[in-house]
Amino acid sequence: MKTPLEILKSYYGYNSFRPMQAEIITNALLQNDSLVLMPTGGGKSICFQIPALLQNGITVVVSPLISLMKDQIDALHANGIQAEALNSGNSVSKDVLIREKCLNNEIKLLYISPERLITEIDWMQNFLKISLFAIDEAHCISQWGHDFRPEYTQLGILHEYFPHVPIMALTATADKITKQDIIERLHLNHPQIYVSSFNRPNLSLEVKRGCSEKEKIKVLLDVIRRHNNESGIIYCMTRKTAEKVAHNLYEYGVVVGVYHAGMSIKERNQIQDDFLNDRIHVVVATIAFGMGIDKSNVRYVIHYNLPKSIENFYQEIGRGGRDGLPTETLLFFNLQDLITLRKFAEESGQKEVNLEKLKRMQEYAEAHICRRRILLNYFGEISDCACNNCDVCKSPPEFFDGTIIVQKALSAILRTNETVGFTMAIDILRGVLMANLMSKNFHQLKTFGAGRDIPFREWKDYFLQMLHMGFIEIAYDEERHLKVTQLGKNVLFNRLQVDLVRIIPEEKSENKKKRSHKSIIQDNNESGNKSDILFERLRNLRQNLAEKNHWPAYIVMSDKSLHALVDEQPITLEEFGEIFGIGKFKREAYGESFVSLIKEFQDEYGITKPKTKMEKTTQMSYMDRQKQLHEHAYAPWTKKDDDYLVELYKEGKSIKELMEIFGRNSGAIRSRLRKLQCF
Ligand code: ADP
Ligand code: ZN
Repeated sequence: MKTPLEILKSYYGYNSFRPMQAEIITNALLQNDSLVLMPTGGGKSICFQIPALLQNGITVVVSPLISLMKDQIDALHANGIQAEALNSGNSVSKDVLIREKCLNNEIKLLYISPERLITEIDWMQNFLKISLFAIDEAHCISQWGHDFRPEYTQLGILHEYFPHVPIMALTATADKITKQDIIERLHLNHPQIYVSSFNRPNLSLEVKRGCSEKEKIKVLLDVIRRHNNESGIIYCMTRKTAEKVAHNLYEYGVVVGVYHAGMSIKERNQIQDDFLNDRIHVVVATIAFGMGIDKSNVRYVIHYNLPKSIENFYQEIGRGGRDGLPTETLLFFNLQDLITLRKFAEESGQKEVNLEKLKRMQEYAEAHICRRRILLNYFGEISDCACNNCDVCKSPPEFFDGTIIVQKALSAILRTNETVGFTMAIDILRGVLMANLMSKNFHQLKTFGAGRDIPFREWKDYFLQMLHMGFIEIAYDEERHLKVTQLGKNVLFNRLQVDLVRIIPEEKSENKKKRSHKSIIQDNNESGNKSDILFERLRNLRQNLAEKNHWPAYIVMSDKSLHALVDEQPITLEEFGEIFGIGKFKREAYGESFVSLIKEFQDEYGITKPKTKMEKTTQMSYMDRQKQLHEHAYAPWTKKDDDYLVELYKEGKSIKELMEIFGRNSGAIRSRLRKLQCF
């Protein structure tokens, strides 16, 4: 009999398990129940698929959505594994065929919707040998989770019907109540609970505060253009915003799909299908665009508006970068969204809980410490080091004595008898003669024009900071007027000193970013062009193969495998089989086409492939470079690293040299040096 690792290698083409996968598989093989908590993209499917392949009989996988089942079955077929789905999308004759296959032991995995499982349960009990039940998206069973599905609650009878068949419940949503609920409702029998790290280091984190609509669109265009031909999702709070953003982008010639709950199911399915199959690269959506998105090569996820909780946010950004390659996430944060969401929370059934969740989301957006640390702490993982892959780590905030600025603002508010909101308070400070302001005689206040030297945008940010620090409050029941708190009065009357974060004008920080982009590109550019050409050709071949099979391209092969093909340039089937993500089925099915494309390419460009290991290791590959730039860059700095860094810096090594020595990007080196007070 084969071992789990051999199966991993031969069917999936992966060389090692990710943390916990091996233990989870062993536990299932020992016929024990388990509860598996892993982030989206963490690799849950393999945990039940490998036990299915190693045992006699059928593994039954309960899944809430037809699109999810389809995606998994396509991926299994593409690896040469027999699997089928019983759900309402099938014709009667298809169902008959599938049942026959089950009886003849022709399939290893049977996917099924929860309602269907209940209607088929007698038949299954009488005729099938079931090796394992896997309950995917298991949080759907709990009313506490955000995707509650009443049909899931009936799954509690499984252990009555099948007392000896183990159950594996899997989810990416991890709070305590939901966890307990899953165990109780499924009647899991002393389950082993596996909680893997929720860290997704390949997702970069960034927040942009106080952007106008126009600025947001500019940023979107920049991201979209940077990711030409790559997929991305833009989440908006409302249907109206989604339509508007899509329209704005369209005006700039960007083709985008719109997806929200106001559209018909047919329209929505079409958009989702176009997205999965790379016919549309960008989707502007409300949160309705969700669970069915298993596409592995989403390269950016942008939140045009603030999400209502960190759970929502994390799940949404989690749809990016499932293949482990670097992926951007960006959140726009402004006051208007906060006010709207607060109103929703106040009016909701669970006011306290929802306000608290929103507050935590706000804290993330306003953070001056590593954002990943905030996310991980939220999910109960203690983390106290900088990630070097969020905007705070890359350019740590600079503080300055902002006492006078705060005093001016607070004084302006008090002089209006606390009867103004943000905009008017800023107009007063900037001395703008607006009609509504003059009609109340505010232009005659002593503070009128006292903050002329500070641009509107900066004022807006300082007001946010003041709100965050508790100097002002918003009176939601008084037309959102601003009120000065007791703490604020201490600043004004008792000269309490306040540090504010300096606002770097957008243009400067953009330039900084462009520069750092450029240097990375330059670093990579020597053999860059040829690699790009080969990558494009491989990508086209993948697309053709995908269309032939009616699969999305990422099912044929992940982006990571394509990059590995560019780096390794295999010219025999054997070498091709060694590529990341290529199991024996893919080797047989596609090996010839890929290998001959690569040979043709090499002939055309007169490339002779480096043969020896030595040559290979001296040639730095895309993957290695990514690793250098990203993976190692996430590891915490040890004391030894720190000492060595300071020593080399004092010796006069340049940032570039330090980048190479430590395998980290320039932001990481600079911020560490700053932390160690070297500059
Ligand atoms: P989840 O269901 O947890 O969201 P998936 O099971 O879809 O995640 O896995 C995410 C991606 O990671 C898939 O492309 C999968 O093939 C890949 N993957 C899973 N396990 C491994 C592994 N041990 N090595 C490499 N890639 C893996
Ligand atoms: Zn960080």
